[in-house]
Amino acid sequence: MNRRQLLKYFFNLSILSASSSLMKVNTSFAKHSGKVVILGAGWGGLSAAKTIKMLNPSIDVTIIEKNKNFQSCPISNWVIGQIKSMEDITFSFNTLKNKYAINFIHEEASQIDFDKKKISTNNFNIQYDKIILSPGIMLDYTNIENWNENSYEIFPSAWKAGNETILLSQQIQNVKDGGTVVLSIPLSPYRCPPGPYERASLISSYLKRNKKRTKLIVLDANEKIVSKGALFKEAWDEYYSDIIEYRPNSGVVGVDNSSKTLMTDFDDIKCDVANLIPAQSVASILRKNNLVAQGQNWASVDPFDFSSSFVKDVFIIGDSTSQSSVGKVPKSGYIANSMGKVCGLAVVSELADLEKLTPSMINTCYSLVSPEEGISVSAVYTYGSKDKKIIKITSGLSPNRSELIKDNAWDWAQNIWEDMLL
Ligand code: FAD
Repeated sequence: MNRRQLLKYFFNLSILSASSSLMKVNTSFAKHSGKVVILGAGWGGLSAAKTIKMLNPSIDVTIIEKNKNFQSCPISNWVIGQIKSMEDITFSFNTLKNKYAINFIHEEASQIDFDKKKISTNNFNIQYDKIILSPGIMLDYTNIENWNENSYEIFPSAWKAGNETILLSQQIQNVKDGGTVVLSIPLSPYRCPPGPYERASLISSYLKRNKKRTKLIVLDANEKIVSKGALFKEAWDEYYSDIIEYRPNSGVVGVDNSSKTLMTDFDDIKCDVANLIPAQSVASILRKNNLVAQGQNWASVDPFDFSSSFVKDVFIIGDSTSQSSVGKVPKSGYIANSMGKVCGLAVVSELADLEKLTPSMINTCYSLVSPEEGISVSAVYTYGSKDKKIIKITSGLSPNRSELIKDNAWDWAQNIWEDMLL
């Protein structure tokens, strides 16, 4: 077995172990159908959809997703670092449509009528028995002075994979030698804690190889590197000390479009390329439909099955969920994938009037510190019945950076894309 097959074996084993107890009751599932609507064909939504269809193909599953294809945030930093292309991280939904008979509506949803159990887009009203919401995050620019509709192209976030990923990648490729690139990081919690630091590493590596005199200023609103700090720091000191200038406690508070300037409480920084990653909160559709408590940034759920704390037959998974209700899990694609499986199984069980199983979840976050080396952090979680939260059973950080971890990162991505999409 080569490494990729071995990883895949363990991956499938974890799914199998989750589903093995189900096999015993699978025959009971089959008799019970129902209509499940899923909002969002991202990491949480796809994982829930496929889990439901694999456990009980007679359940009618419809996904509402505004995008026509899937573009992966994981590995999108590699596109910005010029080591992968957008085609490498873009996938069609055709297998889910044809092999698993999952219906897709490619429109934006706005209104949910909880009494009548229907969700509306411009052209459709879709009825549901259970609805699973995995709409991801909203990028929040409200506290950035002078922000307007022209600012998006001048200060792209590229924090949702798509056009901004391409734009930022091109801007990095075209930056003048001797110029200044700025990357700004919002206060935690935000989507993918190590993501900005991986991006800083890969941009620096590109600059070092191609535009040696260009600087990267990292403006971090946090007091220190949020994830895998020592490992990033070591690599930065060794490889990029003449390129990266890291400034902690430096949140961006304003912009000036015409002079391409970012403002912090201390400085105004004029830049040639500016990657502004703003503060984040729950996706707007959840707030609009009163699924978020007043004054809260994220949606509260019962992490035993990811049912909403407020409305029956509504489930919320992925980055939109609050750590205060779920427990200390990161906002990652791997966690969204785990939540999708737990929630998918819970919904199938509920439709069949069967007892739900105690959830368990896993996460590994890989980051490249250069095109040749990676680092990782992993954790295994279970449901703590005392706290009624997801709790960490064990976790581990890679002892150092290595080529093997870089290879594992790519293998992980291919396996989890396959797990969700094929
Ligand atoms: P998403 O995957 O964002 O899916 C939400 C979907 O809902 C979107 O497709 C959106 O179009 C759709 N949608 C939203 N509102 C509506 C609406 N009203 N109508 C119709 N459709 C709607 N995680 C890892 O585990 N490993 C990594 O290596 C990793 N690297 C990352 C690197 C970067 C640069 C970034 C930005 C993130 C990374 N992540 C990583 C984090 C990961 O991408 C997210 O945690 C994950 O996407 C969350 O899944 P989700 O289902 O909550 O949201």
